[in-house]
Amino acid sequence: MKGLFAFAVIIAAIHCQKLFLGNQVLRIKVNDDEHLNILKSLENQQHLELDFWIPPSKTGLSVDVRVPPASLQVIKDTLESNNIQYSVMIEDVQAILDEEQEQMKENRRLERSAKSFNLGAYHTLDTIYNWMDTLKAQYPNLVSKIQIGWSYEHREMYVLKFSTGGLNRPAIWIDSGIHAREWVSTATAIWTANKIATLYGNDASLTTLLNRMDILLLITANPDGYVFTHTSNRMWRKTRSRNSASSCIGVDPNRNWDAGFAGPGASTNPCSDSYHGPYAHSEVEVKNIVDFVKSHGNIKSFISIHSYSQLLLYPYGYKCTNTNDYKELDSIGKSAASALQSLYGTKYQVGSICAAIYQASGGSIDWTYDNGIKYSFAFELRDTGRYGFLLPANQIIPTAEETWLGLKSIMEYVYDHPY
Ligand SMILES: [Zn+2]
Repeated sequence: MKGLFAFAVIIAAIHCQKLFLGNQVLRIKVNDDEHLNILKSLENQQHLELDFWIPPSKTGLSVDVRVPPASLQVIKDTLESNNIQYSVMIEDVQAILDEEQEQMKENRRLERSAKSFNLGAYHTLDTIYNWMDTLKAQYPNLVSKIQIGWSYEHREMYVLKFSTGGLNRPAIWIDSGIHAREWVSTATAIWTANKIATLYGNDASLTTLLNRMDILLLITANPDGYVFTHTSNRMWRKTRSRNSASSCIGVDPNRNWDAGFAGPGASTNPCSDSYHGPYAHSEVEVKNIVDFVKSHGNIKSFISIHSYSQLLLYPYGYKCTNTNDYKELDSIGKSAASALQSLYGTKYQVGSICAAIYQASGGSIDWTYDNGIKYSFAFELRDTGRYGFLLPANQIIPTAEETWLGLKSIMEYVYDHPY
């Protein structure tokens, strides 16, 4: 009878896609190298099915990890027996996901009846693509859509181009959603697109900028992964490409760039969430961006939006030496972070990828920097861990508003410093 009950629960769980029932997210303190080694060894134990939201990297930097119910006891025992401090950051992952689903359903109902698009909600890829067409139709003299290629599963990849004319003007690139589960980055980019369109002609600084420069916005850099987070697994991070040597799917598209490719901070294991892929630019989504950036040839700033941790990062990640432009990038970053903070007090840490988080090779902004785009930055948006990747929709607009101040600060600097 007990077995039958368990079976029924499993069937019900599969039916409702309650993949994360009983999952918790733990925040673990890493006080010394011994702690670090223990956590790194846990990372390699695939049967535990741990999902590291913030992987073990260095002493002093906490680790966030989602733990399925079957592994909770063994993980907690391991931590306690080694005197490693931890706290339960998310008590019940599934409860947050259920709430998120409920809100999306309610929002769809409201949007249908009001025939409008709510910038403060999370959306599916189809809805986002339809909305892009609406924006283009509303601002035909400013907004156009460029298809830069197809994803692995044959979805279109679109860049929204904000331009007031001219031929191949100097441009600022912004992308989001390269990691599929970082939904607030995608939602922030959508809000930003709308903001740019409505501010042109009304805001002196942005109008001046758009009279000389273009803004290029790739809202969903990983469309297959994004769709998968909506249909199958909300915690998906990678692309959806098949690996010839493994049944595990996908590559981390931000470890796949030809910048220190396959170096430290990227995994050789196809089952890992930070798998770098079989070769640099193996992922068609990355290749599409690389080809576009190269053929454009006049991009002056490349900004990639991620979540979470509240960081504003600049190169390098694949090595721990400073770039030649280190001082300038650091000062631009600090100004942007203080502009961002001025709105709601949200604090950002500023630094090179290696200094602020950890050595991570094959990242986009290292590649763009090494390929002549001096003003290369990455944002890690809200929060610092209360919700992690599952930031509630009511934080989308405040997140986007404050991020805009940071973006604007960088864009204005780039405008004032042509090179
Ligand atoms: Zn990311």
